[in-house]
Amino acid sequence: MKIILLLSFILFNIFAQDIYAQKKKVKSFSKVKILAIDAGHGGLDNGCSGKKIKEKTINFAVSQLLGNMIKKKYPNIKIVYTRTKDQYLSIDQRVQTAHQAKADLLISIHTNHENSRKVKGTETFIFAEGKPTRIVIETKKKGKKKKTIKIIPAAKSPKNKIALKRSEDLAKKIELEYVKQIKRNSRGVKKRPLKILRISKMPAVLTELGFLSNSEEEVYLSSKKGQEQLAKTIFTAFEQYLKGK
Ligand SMILES: [Zn+2]
Repeated sequence: MKIILLLSFILFNIFAQDIYAQKKKVKSFSKVKILAIDAGHGGLDNGCSGKKIKEKTINFAVSQLLGNMIKKKYPNIKIVYTRTKDQYLSIDQRVQTAHQAKADLLISIHTNHENSRKVKGTETFIFAEGKPTRIVIETKKKGKKKKTIKIIPAAKSPKNKIALKRSEDLAKKIELEYVKQIKRNSRGVKKRPLKILRISKMPAVLTELGFLSNSEEEVYLSSKKGQEQLAKTIFTAFEQYLKGK
């Protein structure tokens, strides 16, 4: 009897410790000790272009401003930049940097482009699984046409649900602050199967600061004032994310 009691006590302890460890893991995960900031494009890859300025330049300037603001107020948060100069990096290299640094969050910064010059505003992306694609293949055999339908399955997400929820939370905060602080036209939070956002267990957002195809926005995005305002807005949203507001 004593042995059984002792055994069940040990088993209970192991089980309880396991639950505790799991809870602790989730909790510490919500803190941001290491932040990865990704300035989109670079080097040979200019991204999109306005009349005078290239996307990579704006992304880099805002990323640096954001990083400096965070470093100043939260010196304990380690900031890892995917690029620290005008340099070409593949998406895989960017993801690898964030992974190797064991970042708790990734913020990727981009600038948009549209064929219509009227389109303007901000939008922030979070990861979503793609849809299966249906393609029709036409072949000719002995002069006869033959149609075959092929279904390409969607890439499955390795993301965990908590990371996705946190990504959505931050993305919403960023879009809200764009409107609240600097009266930008928010196009909202969007879900896409973007490779940079497909990071397992790590919340990740990609924010588009505005449209370089819109001349009014190009002037704003190129200006020091505009870049500072945009960085400050993302900073506020990040701060609220940290505080869990
Ligand atoms: Zn881009």
